[in-house]
Amino acid sequence: MTIIIFGPPGAGKGTQAALIKEHYNIPHLSTGEIFRAAIKNETALGKKVTSILDAGELVPDETVVALVEEELKKEDYDDGYILDGFPRTVPQAQSYDTILQKKGRGLDAFLLLEVPEEELVNRILSRGEGRSDDTPAKVKNRLEVYWNETLPVLNHYKKYGLVNKIDGTGSIEDIFDRIKKVL
Ligand code: ADP
Repeated sequence: MTIIIFGPPGAGKGTQAALIKEHYNIPHLSTGEIFRAAIKNETALGKKVTSILDAGELVPDETVVALVEEELKKEDYDDGYILDGFPRTVPQAQSYDTILQKKGRGLDAFLLLEVPEEELVNRILSRGEGRSDDTPAKVKNRLEVYWNETLPVLNHYKKYGLVNKIDGTGSIEDIFDRIKKVL
């Protein structure tokens, strides 16, 4: 099963992706987590993206696409996976179409987690993960980047009739139940 989990910062993508990973026994590929690990380990990639993540801006498309393409070559992903944080721009979505074509496989589900904006901000500011991009000004910027650059990705998948809207409010378990119904 190949799944994309999509939604604004604070919508709960990482939390739900972890539950999907466990329940369906498929790996979770989070581009944000890969970048944060690279920064922590001070790799070349980490050095390149530190200031970008810190500002809540987007890593250049070619960097992200090359990373995802390389990662998906690993055997672990042969039987499916859940993508979280990618694709985040229309060019990334187009590149991902090409990657899937090359692999001769399709997408099974696109889950859109819907949460009201005020709640997104509250969740991020109260989650206390210590992320340098979780400050009020940076959260505001990340949301703006989402509305401007990431939201158009939805139309790309709507064309394929693949978008499943999930109410992202309520308890973690309730949200996961809604996801299981769709999957
Ligand atoms: P959130 O959804 O809460 O913003 P993520 O962990 O998905 O958190 O992303 C954190 C940061 O990593 C983003 O603000 C961005 O700087 C970078 N990033 C992650 N995925 C991508 C991507 N596909 N394209 C560009 N930048 C990305």
